Amino acid sequence: MKPKHVPERMCVACRRRRPKRELLRVVLTPEGPVIDPSGKKPGRGAYVCPDQPECWAEKRLRRFAGAGAAALAQALNALLAPAPENP
Ligand SMILES: [Zn+2]
Repeated sequence: MKPKHVPERMCVACRRRRPKRELLRVVLTPEGPVIDPSGKKPGRGAYVCPDQPECWAEKRLRRFAGAGAAALAQALNALLAPAPENP
């Protein structure tokens, strides 16, 4: 039996390689960076660790998103950070 192939991707922030399904895809669109949980949007994509808050930091995303890094960091935090006002 052949070992099952697990597609791996590298997190753009921490540069760790992880199975693709453990990572969250983000895409640079002409309108700016967007989060792509479906993994199907066209455009220049990258992956970040959804479980590592340090990977959502603007300075770590700048290499990928450039001027859009701040917006992307904000979007990732809004999506992934636990909201303190919700129990
Ligand atoms: Zn990471």
